Amino acid sequence: MDGFVRVPVREQDAKVRATNFEEVCLGYNKEEAEKEALRCLNCKNPQCVQGCPVSIDIPAFISQVKTGDVEGAYQTISKSSALPAVCGRVCPQESQCEGKCIRGIKGDAVSIGKLERYVADTARELGIKPEGAKEKKGKKVAVIGSGPSGLTCAGDLAKMGYDVTIFEALHEAGGVLVYGIPEFRLPKTAVVKKEIENVKSLGVKLETDVVIGKSVTIDELMEKEGFEAVFIGSGAGLPRFMNIPGEQAMGVFSANEFLTRSNLMKAFDENSRTPIMRPKKCVVVGGGNVAMDAARTALRLGAEVHVVYRRGEEELPARKEEVGHAKEEGIIFDLLTNPVEIHADENGWVTGITCIRMELGEPDESGRRSPVEVPGSEFDIDCDAVIMSLGTSPNPLISSTTEGLEINRRKCIVAQEENGQTSKPGVFAGGDAVTGAATVILAMGAGKAAAKGIDEYLSSKQ
Ligand SMILES: Cc1cc2nc3c(=O)[nH]c(=O)nc-3n(C[C@H](O)[C@H](O)[C@H](O)COP(=O)(O)OP(=O)(O)OC[C@H]3O[C@@H](n4cnc5c(N)ncnc54)[C@H](O)[C@@H]3O)c2cc1C
Repeated sequence: MDGFVRVPVREQDAKVRATNFEEVCLGYNKEEAEKEALRCLNCKNPQCVQGCPVSIDIPAFISQVKTGDVEGAYQTISKSSALPAVCGRVCPQESQCEGKCIRGIKGDAVSIGKLERYVADTARELGIKPEGAKEKKGKKVAVIGSGPSGLTCAGDLAKMGYDVTIFEALHEAGGVLVYGIPEFRLPKTAVVKKEIENVKSLGVKLETDVVIGKSVTIDELMEKEGFEAVFIGSGAGLPRFMNIPGEQAMGVFSANEFLTRSNLMKAFDENSRTPIMRPKKCVVVGGGNVAMDAARTALRLGAEVHVVYRRGEEELPARKEEVGHAKEEGIIFDLLTNPVEIHADENGWVTGITCIRMELGEPDESGRRSPVEVPGSEFDIDCDAVIMSLGTSPNPLISSTTEGLEINRRKCIVAQEENGQTSKPGVFAGGDAVTGAATVILAMGAGKAAAKGIDEYLSSKQ
């Protein structure tokens, strides 16, 4: 076999998938996975492990795939990751483990993400579970939020023997994995819920519909309910808007609201009791992964979709794979374009948006060239919906109801990178609540570091 080229992964045809919510990528079967695993050179000093924020022993699990030992491969991954089926699907591997793969110098990097997905999916089909703690410590820890940071922190603490309860504001656990990332990229029932079940199988308790800061505060959890440490993994779910004229019109959504309605309330299902507006022509503003998800969801609901982004193709922050999928499915990209005003009819419903052309000027503090308006280049796009995907920040509810918890000027909780310790003794934090909107695997890495930090803190208290 040609070792320079990776085994291609099967996908749903672009024309077919543009009309359904089923998963786009179909993953490897046994034969394909074992063939791809053979491309791993089992390096003595594996750079891929350094590229993984949770340090999975990648060469070890790939060697196990080579010999058909899926159970062994699953337990190897589970030592470092509570959510392998999720990460195998949504991690930006090209800039992490695969970005460091030695195979990538002269050809394709080993398809580490797809192999991880294969192991996790096969283990799930075979009913293989992660290994739990042998001894209990008799100490209670509260975890706020059931996104990737909270699930990872809870799973690691349970494996160490702590009595862990996750408090989740919504009625479903999973954070962005259930309410943000769409079904066609990350199936909820078949994948996310099963991985959450695995975390629960380690002994983690889960209480949904509990809003910390409203139902109960962190101080009450620690002073009245016997929790000796708390991890805050409450994410960054507060959407930003542009503050342009007309943004309050009906038919203007934040990407978060649009995706939450579609995912969590199953509004894409005509029989759902929470219907979503099905736009005919929709403009999505922004160029990140969230914008791609919103655009591809609107397309599947039947709309013609334009992505309006103020920089060029090279600067699009979304993963290349997602941009490629969006283009194949028929999304139209209006690059170097910025919205100026949204128009509405006499009843307040969106009828169109005025945009202006941009060109790239001098680099800004992020090192990227700043977009500058081209005078007199305004033009209109008719549309009946506008979805704003301009980023999110942490909700201030927890920080404003917790004594002595320091936040920075971006409203993010201040926590030490190596162990998640905040300014308040016994309170740790990680994930998007600390960094602002980032990635699943970085949130998991932070959850892991905090679990270690909490263990050290509670062990030193004895
Ligand atoms: C649409 C979309 C697509 C994305 N795609 C990708 C991708 O492809 N790859 C990738 O790596 N990353 C992606 N991301 C980013 C990634 O999902 C996040 O970085 C990650 O989920 C952050 O994890 P977290 O645990 O910090 O927070 P979250 O996943 O946001 O979870 C926080 C949880 O805390 C709960 N919570 C909040 N406040 C309270 C409270 N007061 N009390 C109790 N519970 C509370 C929330 O309800 C939520 O369940 C995407 C994000 C979005 C929005």
